Amino acid sequence: GYSNKTQLDVIVVGAGLVGSLEALYLAKRGHRVRLYEFREDIRKTPQARGRSINLALSVRGRRALKDVGLETHMIKEHGIPMTGRRIHRTDGSTYVIPYDANTKQSIYSVGRNYLNGLLLQESEQYGNVERYFNHKLIEANLKKGSLTFLKTDTNETVTVTADLIIGADGAFSAVRKAMMKQPFFDYSQKYIEHGYLELCIPPADNGGFLMPANYLHIWPRGEFMMIALPNQDCSWTVTLFMPFDKFKNLDTEEKLLAFFEKYFPDSIPLIGKKKLVEDFFAVKPSPLVAVKCRPYHVEDKALIIGDAAHAVVPFYGQGMNAGFEDCTLLDQLFQKHHDNLAEILKEFSETRWEDTFAISDLAMYNYIEMRDLVTRPSYKFRKAMDDFIFWLLPNFWVPLYNSVTFSTMPYSLCIKNREWQDRVLKKLLKIVGIGALIGGAVAFKIKYYS
Ligand code: FAD
Repeated sequence: GYSNKTQLDVIVVGAGLVGSLEALYLAKRGHRVRLYEFREDIRKTPQARGRSINLALSVRGRRALKDVGLETHMIKEHGIPMTGRRIHRTDGSTYVIPYDANTKQSIYSVGRNYLNGLLLQESEQYGNVERYFNHKLIEANLKKGSLTFLKTDTNETVTVTADLIIGADGAFSAVRKAMMKQPFFDYSQKYIEHGYLELCIPPADNGGFLMPANYLHIWPRGEFMMIALPNQDCSWTVTLFMPFDKFKNLDTEEKLLAFFEKYFPDSIPLIGKKKLVEDFFAVKPSPLVAVKCRPYHVEDKALIIGDAAHAVVPFYGQGMNAGFEDCTLLDQLFQKHHDNLAEILKEFSETRWEDTFAISDLAMYNYIEMRDLVTRPSYKFRKAMDDFIFWLLPNFWVPLYNSVTFSTMPYSLCIKNREWQDRVLKKLLKIVGIGALIGGAVAFKIKYYS
């Protein structure tokens, strides 16, 4: 039976968000976990930068945090609810597109370093977790379950072995690199032509927020966009997403300020002219990469999860959420297959890729929606229709964004569901006539949005 199971010896490579969470899931099951991380302990170097300063946490990520006992703390004390998109026009006026007009669910802005530190701190509660920082994976023999690390503080190398190796070492995963030598490993990566650069809106003089706090602010400008997510200290992390050649053209202070005057004038006094110039020229824009690959495992020995398995562009706010969902699904498979690694890894590999490929495609699409489509009448009409039918038939008609963000419906089904809705709407429009539908949507808008 399950009670007299053996303790597995597991190595997790990468103590980022996903690796730290996976360590907790495994520790709860009673396995021995060694967590190896290239960087220093993030709890000691709070300035250490990850891939973005804050992130949007939604239902899939919340479910995982709940499993390890951290959801309430994160949501109630260290997450800022965002109830919708707050769109900034060029004249500085704004309007709101709620994420969920019917049941009023929110996504939550959380600090990456805080969450990562919290997950690591929680692992101290378990005697069966060991943490090794400043260890960089440099070589792997996955079939043998053997890994070689370089200790970056002393320049020594150490070789260790385990029953199971889990690679959670991010978009440029060294574990994945070792897997690529296996026959039948499919791999593709795509750098989009856009990069991102982070700016900051500080807290107000009285310590509050300079913009309404409970929104994800967006300045959609067609080919590019700027967004802002709130932080615990009442500052905002502002991210400019734009084609690299456009970034390159902004090579002087004058050009930068003229660009902001033209497209984001209301943000200049908030960021501050001096800070804007300083922060903009202090760093280069970062690239954005999407990775698709499969299978995710090697026999009963090695598995990749999180960005290592499926880095996606950030426009659906689902990268971390999908990585956290990997951990939840994996945990369910440990339960189902009674710790039989061969079966667990095989089933994870065979069932997960379809959904991670789906969220990857959705994320690519959502960039266009966020930076461009949101401002178009056709988008607003469809959104009003969706919300209207959703309100009439909440269990029957869940709009795409809601199914991705506020449900745990497999990502691939979210897409199929949307395709079905498109077909139904087309037929409906023919039967009922556009007039009646617009009437319904307008009535709904008046009742619920204003
Ligand atoms: P990572 O966070 O990359 O962690 C990997 C860890 O492995 C790191 O600590 C690294 O130091 C370590 N490592 C790497 N190589 C080695 C090695 N050789 N040896 C040992 N250790 C190693 N997701 C959301 O859900 N919501 C959002 O709103 C959101 N916004 C984003 C905004 C931006 C601009 C970007 C770029 C991403 C965003 N994401 C978001 C995606 C999210 O950041 C990632 O999906 C998430 O960080 C993945 O976590 P991970 O642990 O798999 O990888």
